[in-house]
Amino acid sequence: MIAHHFTVDVEEYFQVSAFEGYVSRDSWATLHSRVEASVGRLVDLLARHRARGTFFVLGWVAERHPNLVRAIVRAGHEAASHGWDHKRVGEQTPDEFRASVRRTKQLLEELSGQPCLGFRAPNFSIVSGREWALDILLEEGYRYDSSLYPVRRPGYGYAGGGRDPHWLERPAGRLAELPPATLRRLGVNLPAGGGAYFRIFPYALVRSTIAEYDRRGVPATFYLHPWEIDPAQPTLPVSWLARLRHYTGLGRTLPRLERLLSEFRFTAIADRFAAPALATRA
Ligand SMILES: [Zn+2]
Repeated sequence: MIAHHFTVDVEEYFQVSAFEGYVSRDSWATLHSRVEASVGRLVDLLARHRARGTFFVLGWVAERHPNLVRAIVRAGHEAASHGWDHKRVGEQTPDEFRASVRRTKQLLEELSGQPCLGFRAPNFSIVSGREWALDILLEEGYRYDSSLYPVRRPGYGYAGGGRDPHWLERPAGRLAELPPATLRRLGVNLPAGGGAYFRIFPYALVRSTIAEYDRRGVPATFYLHPWEIDPAQPTLPVSWLARLRHYTGLGRTLPRLERLLSEFRFTAIADRFAAPALATRA
């Protein structure tokens, strides 16, 4: 049985892009933190299932919770970068983006004692026209990206992107791309890689998606956020749509994760770089 990728975007419940208009960055430091407890629960869950994962950590979170990063790595998982303060790529100039991914990588390497190889953009925000971000990642020493969600969605998605792990040939070099898993139906890629799609839709959606990759012998990339296993998080006064997406199914996530982890094998993305197929570098 092939090992798929279990990934977690490590951020607080109040840092999600959908809450941007309601929770200012200035107020973040005053809000009650819940990320450490939820990540601890995920680490325990993975240990019970003998699974490993990649944790894309915000620099902002790592700076305030250094022990969180140490605990992730001590448990055998990979610490990778989710940028500094959850700004979408399109909200930053190339210089600001470079500073954000550089600062986050440096801090994570200091805390983990391991190279930080990977990046996932907040809200999968490396969209068409923002490919310069991929070159900056290469120039800053990143080896892979996991931001190009090959779906057509309002606000995010990289509709022309490949579904399976692949190499991106860029002016700055060769970057591995590990796209979140999608379900292909009637010639269309549907988002089914995790997150809200895992909580809100029937379990069978994500299950059949990963099973399809499994049959083809291709690793699927599953993703989740710590706040998605935390039904006790404070409810924020946000729009009904943001509320629907954020709070629906929180109580279902953990039991579904137990099932997913018992049905499939999972490992960290960094493991691929030890494999011959991805070990050669241009
Ligand atoms: Zn995020």
